[in-house]
Amino acid sequence: MIVGVDLGGTKIATGLLDAGGRMLARSQKATAGLKSSEEVIQAIVDTITEVSGEHEIAGVGLASPGAVDTRRGIIRNGVNLPGWNGISLQWELEKRLQVPAKLINDANAAAWGEYVYGAGRGAQSMVYVTLSTGIGSGLVLDGKLYLGTSSFAGELGHTVVDPNGALCGCGQRGCWETYASGTAIARQASEAAAAAAEGMTQMTVLAEAEGVPLSAKHVFQAAAMNDKLAQETLEQVIHYTGLGLMNIIHSFNPDCIVIGGGVSRAGAAFFEPLRGKTGELVMEPYRGTYAIKPAELKDDVGIIGAAALFVE
Ligand code: ADP
Ligand code: ZN
Repeated sequence: MIVGVDLGGTKIATGLLDAGGRMLARSQKATAGLKSSEEVIQAIVDTITEVSGEHEIAGVGLASPGAVDTRRGIIRNGVNLPGWNGISLQWELEKRLQVPAKLINDANAAAWGEYVYGAGRGAQSMVYVTLSTGIGSGLVLDGKLYLGTSSFAGELGHTVVDPNGALCGCGQRGCWETYASGTAIARQASEAAAAAAEGMTQMTVLAEAEGVPLSAKHVFQAAAMNDKLAQETLEQVIHYTGLGLMNIIHSFNPDCIVIGGGVSRAGAAFFEPLRGKTGELVMEPYRGTYAIKPAELKDDVGIIGAAALFVE
């Protein structure tokens, strides 16, 4: 049995998995209210003890957002975890639980999970991309999770597709995620709506009916209802998403690209034009060398991917 832990923005989610990747038990705890690293570590240990029961555990894998130093077992910037800098969580857990532990960035965990148990099964080289609030990614090259020198490899969301583009949270301009993340889709749609003569489109109508800000989901819904502005926005989004995939294909020559995250929930309305656009953009020798697939693991991808670190 293996344990996987997902240290998310709001909760610690932990699962017990068998070697086939089936989740046999699950437990979670909110991180709000935890005041010190000691309390966070104790909460993690509690969820692990809860799911483990009487089972013998071969290892505990942990997925965390942000910069994770996998080789030293350290979370470099615990965005949501108080007093966290520089603590060797791996060592703390191994000491308390007497089982091997491994730490990994959450996008890398998702990549490995999709490779071992999901849409990337059987691929030689697979690149995983999550189109969510931002863009995360992970690389499995020649069957191995590629971590890089400091284990920070795979920040493809911050590769630049337009040096004069919109300002990104990282300080750079025109990062891929400023065009193709869910947040970016909503922003581009809002800009298009504001610039339109009437200022009102099916997208804004849908958002107002729900009483929420315009989101990527509304853009896809409005496009399906033939809203011209939504369709034009998506055309631009698909173009930039395709550019990002082109860069991936030209860089890594993967046979499989797996796309997850909220935006992938748009389904065929997203994947079909994206496959077409990417095919137009890549250089000739790359055509037909890769497949673009929707992710298969859903909400528990972090838990499953972290546990899969103990699967060879
Ligand atoms: P997080 O970034 O918190 O992990 P998600 O992976 O769910 O969250 O991504 C959230 C983004 O996905 C939001 O921008 C949201 O608008 C978008 N999204 C959610 N559902 C859909 C959908 N059905 N179609 C298109 N975009 C969607
Ligand atoms: Zn950036």
